[in-house]
Formats: sequence, structure tokens, C-alpha cells
Amino acid sequence: MADLAALMQGLGEPKFRAGQVFAWLARGMKPQGMTNLPQGLRDTLSALPFGGARVHDRFISAKDGTVKYLFELEDGNLVEGVLMRYRYGNTLCISTQVGCRMGCAFCASTLDGCVRNLTPGEMLSFIARAEEDEPLKEGAVRAVTNIVLMGSGEPLDNYDNVVKFLRMVSAPEGMNISPRNISLSTCGLVPKLLRFMREAPHVTLSISLHAATDEARSRIMPVNRRYPIAELLGAAKAYAQETGRRVIFEYALILGQNDSSADASALAKLVRGIPCHVNLIPLNAIKERGLKGATREGAARFAESLVALGVSATVRRELGTDIEGACGQLRRRVLQQKNDSSEETLP
Ligand code: SAH
Repeated sequence: MADLAALMQGLGEPKFRAGQVFAWLARGMKPQGMTNLPQGLRDTLSALPFGGARVHDRFISAKDGTVKYLFELEDGNLVEGVLMRYRYGNTLCISTQVGCRMGCAFCASTLDGCVRNLTPGEMLSFIARAEEDEPLKEGAVRAVTNIVLMGSGEPLDNYDNVVKFLRMVSAPEGMNISPRNISLSTCGLVPKLLRFMREAPHVTLSISLHAATDEARSRIMPVNRRYPIAELLGAAKAYAQETGRRVIFEYALILGQNDSSADASALAKLVRGIPCHVNLIPLNAIKERGLKGATREGAARFAESLVALGVSATVRRELGTDIEGACGQLRRRVLQQKNDSSEETLP
């Protein structure tokens, strides 16, 4: 807001314009759609990088209606988003970075590293684009009711922009989406996580755990060498204590790597005493990675073992498996196709 006030002053505009522009931006609107501004100001703002995305492509799952978006940013970069339909409303999964630099061994988003951070305006525009596309349910105020920061990128590696985005998206004059309807998933940048839970205590926290020992976790998640499991779980415990809310642990079951009954026992021992829920998902195999997912039956057995050991756990329903729902898969295929076709045209 302070930045906008300074911008309006610099443009010789009255003060109240900053509030008007903020309300539009918080709704993901591009300058030409800001209908209560004079045309001249809309043109001036259009020349500034407000970072609205446009829909580059869209795939709808024939199985469950999940929509996978490929958004194109103003600089031509592509990022993914996924709209999942549930009985209570629609959840939009959005990306926070173009690519990712965390290097997890099973994830497609990180294969080419991190290109850049996304801005708050870009993240807001993903919601606006999805809503433009989506019919309103009867009696609903908005089409996107829940947001998960679980697309490409590590949200806490783009800390300032993510926090600004969260403030804007829940502003009453903007989209007014409550922080309680927003989840953030992190691979475990512990110092940023400790800061985040003080600044955004109402956001639901998911932690990508994926292994129960440091040795196994460091093998698949390089971040663990920097912030080992004990430190990460210390932060998770602090979150639960300070906010009174459960932590969600994400655990992707990788065939033969972290899916044995010994792994289930180690995991149960680890999270004992932390108010939590374990979300299990058979790994979505990425062809470049050479890792396979556990079977549905294997996942169900793992969940039963955890429950028998007193841990709340469920196998997550997989949505959009026919449209490359997993992080970074779709963007990567489209980029590869672009590269392949440009190679063909070389002399
Ligand atoms: N960087 C954040 C958020 C993005 S990933 C994080 O690590 O949490 C969202 C979730 O998808 C994470 O739990 C991630 O580990 C998981 N994931 C990534 N690739 C996957 C795959 N191939 N199969 C299943 N889950 C995957």
C-alpha cells in the first residue's frame, strides 16, 4: 500500500487512487479492467509490470473434472496451477516460483532449477483467471474458495512475496479469502518457517516429510542436510503449540525406499506427541527420476500401520492423474516440446 501511495503521488494522482488500485490488484485485475480509474491512468499503469498472467493452456480431467492450467507470465515464463473440485468448494493449487531450487529427488519442478520468484500480483492473477473460467455454484460468493501453495517452487524461498500475497488475498476489499482456507506446504526451511508461523498463524501448515530418518531424507531431499528432521519437527511442534492447530505431514510413498512397515513404525515414533495428520500419497512417477510410486494397496497398508500405532493418517485421493497433475510435469513437457520443435527448425 505504501508503495502504491508513493506511485500515485509520483504520478500526480490524488491519494484515494492508491486504495482503488489496491482493491483491484488484490482481486487480480489488470490495469485496463480497473473501471473506476480515468483511462489515462489505466494506460500509464498498463505500461508498468503489474504481472498479470494469462491462460496459455487448460486441460480438464475426464475422470474428476480437475482443471490443470498452464499460465503464461508477461515475460513468457510458464507456470502451472490446478483447480480441484470438492463438495464444499473449489481449491486452487498455485505455484510460488518458476521452477524450484530445492532439488528433491522425486520432483519434476526442480529439474531445471529456479528461474525466478513469482510476484504477489502474479499469484493473485492465477486466482482471477481461474475464477473467470469457473461458473459460480448456487449461493456462492466466489468460485475459488480455498488456496494451497503447493504448486511449483518453495514458498518459503520466496518469503516476502508470499507473505505479501497472503495479506492481499485475504484483504476484505480484495478477494477476502480467509487465511483459514489457505494452506502452505514447505520442504522445511526451518528459520523461515519459525518466522512464518508468527506472521501468518492462521494459515494451515503442511510439511513435506517423506522419510523418517535423516539418512533416508537427506538422500531424497537435500534441504535435510541443512535442517535435519529434529530441527524441522521442533518447529512443527512449536507451530502446533503456538497456534493450537494440527500440522499436516506430507509423505509420498516411494516403492522400496520409504514404504516398509519398519518405515511406518519409525514415522509413528517420530511424530508421536505432535498434534498432526499424515497425508500419504503414492509417488507420482516422473520419468526422468527413475523412482516408482507405491501401489494403492501398499499405501492403504502403510496408512493402517500408522493408524494402528495411534497416528492419524489417510491416503490422499489422487486427482487429475490423467492430466499430469503432479508438480512441474506439465510445464516441463510443454517446454520440451517447444525445444524439440525449435530444434527441428534449425538449419
Ligand atoms: N516446495 C513445497 C511445495 C511444493 S510441492 C514443498 O516441498 O512442500 C507440493 C507437494 O508435492 C510436496 O509435498 C512435494 O514433496 C510433493 N511432490 C513433488 N513431486 C511429487 C511426486 N512426483 N509425487 C508425489 N508428490 C510429489
